[in-house]
Amino acid sequence: MRVSLSICGNATIYATGARPDLKAGGLNFSDRREPPRREDGIMDVYGMAEFDAHEAIHIFHNKSLGLRFIVAIHNTTRGPAVGGCRMWNYPSFGDALGDALRLSRGMTYKAALADLPYGGGKSVLIGDVSLKSPAVLGAVGEAVESLAGQYTISDDLGVSLADVAVIAASTRFACAPRLPDGTTIPATAFGVFHGIRATALHVFGTDDIGRRSVAVQGLGAVGSKLCEYLADAGATLFVADLDPERVTAAVRRWNARPMAVEEILFAAVDILAPCALGGILNAGTIGRLRCRAIAGAANNQLATPENGVALAARGITYAPDFVINAGGLIEVAHLRSGVFEMDGVLDDCRRIFDRTLNILGRAAASGEDPSSVAERFARERLPAKRRAVETALDASS
Ligand code: NAD
Repeated sequence: MRVSLSICGNATIYATGARPDLKAGGLNFSDRREPPRREDGIMDVYGMAEFDAHEAIHIFHNKSLGLRFIVAIHNTTRGPAVGGCRMWNYPSFGDALGDALRLSRGMTYKAALADLPYGGGKSVLIGDVSLKSPAVLGAVGEAVESLAGQYTISDDLGVSLADVAVIAASTRFACAPRLPDGTTIPATAFGVFHGIRATALHVFGTDDIGRRSVAVQGLGAVGSKLCEYLADAGATLFVADLDPERVTAAVRRWNARPMAVEEILFAAVDILAPCALGGILNAGTIGRLRCRAIAGAANNQLATPENGVALAARGITYAPDFVINAGGLIEVAHLRSGVFEMDGVLDDCRRIFDRTLNILGRAAASGEDPSSVAERFARERLPAKRRAVETALDASS
């Protein structure tokens, strides 16, 4: 079943928290981050801090599979929404919905700043990754297909390119970029690396990464490839991951210095590169940071916009995530354009250097924090009316 919250049309807002069938499916509304409720008990999605005038929110449920899947579509004025799917064992439905809303808004900004003809959307699959199965992924595909191209799904934390390939069997709207020989382009890590170079130039007056110490939090698909680029450029690396084998590999391959998961954020380094989860820059962490700058891949690093202001007040330069981690979306754009070559994708990712430098420079000149500047630039690039765009039916790969 699907519960749709359509903001553009005749809005039908179901009292999702009050629906016995959803409760029976295992959604737990009693955990720590409940969305606000109206006086009549109906969940007030509009009142959530993360809401930000989303165009649509689709909530899917399949009781027999235990599927709990949310698609959030923030803004499609530039084109149909494209964004990855995250699988995470969220403590509550409110956490999952909040994450989907924040992530989809970030995709709107990312596409706008990279000048891509896409809108912002993102999905979350609620549950531990151990629950992932071909049947669940197939059902995700069917859910995406039912949206008829409003949203194209890709990979994110907990959902790999191989998973997206399974999803693609049930929908035309799935994108798993691979070169003809089956290899992938490390577009996100490459773009983040150039964002880090620009941040270094802005803060230290040189983009020579060989003179910089960098702490990388998270050694997954993006973090490990980023370490490779940084190590090749001569950086001194500090690393942490929940998976000790990934840390051991980083120590062996790049002579990285291992740190405890609880400590990596507070490493005394030139640059902190968060490449795990979002929300890590918050009231509890900002006062303890000892880095000069932050530039990493993780989406939504700032827990709230005010945290961007707090970082600036501490003299810590923050390269907005949605500016520097656009490589994956750039890659998707190349794939959908029909020309998908390593060199072309990486050339476009290199442009993240100039974009980052521009935003950091403007923020420094105006006294605003970089995230606010980037957000304003992105919003200025959103047309008032939806562009006439064709839904890409050839999106699957
Ligand atoms: P991934 O799942 O491959 O890797 C994440 C890694 O972080 C894992 O190794 C995990 O063990 C580790 N981790 C989780 N919590 C941690 C913690 N508290 N401390 C240290 N390590 C921790 O994910 P990924 O594809 O590398 O993505 C990383 C981040 O970048 C995510 O926030 C994702 O949304 C964002 N991002 C990814 C892409 C992409 O192309 N994959 C694009 C844009 C943004």
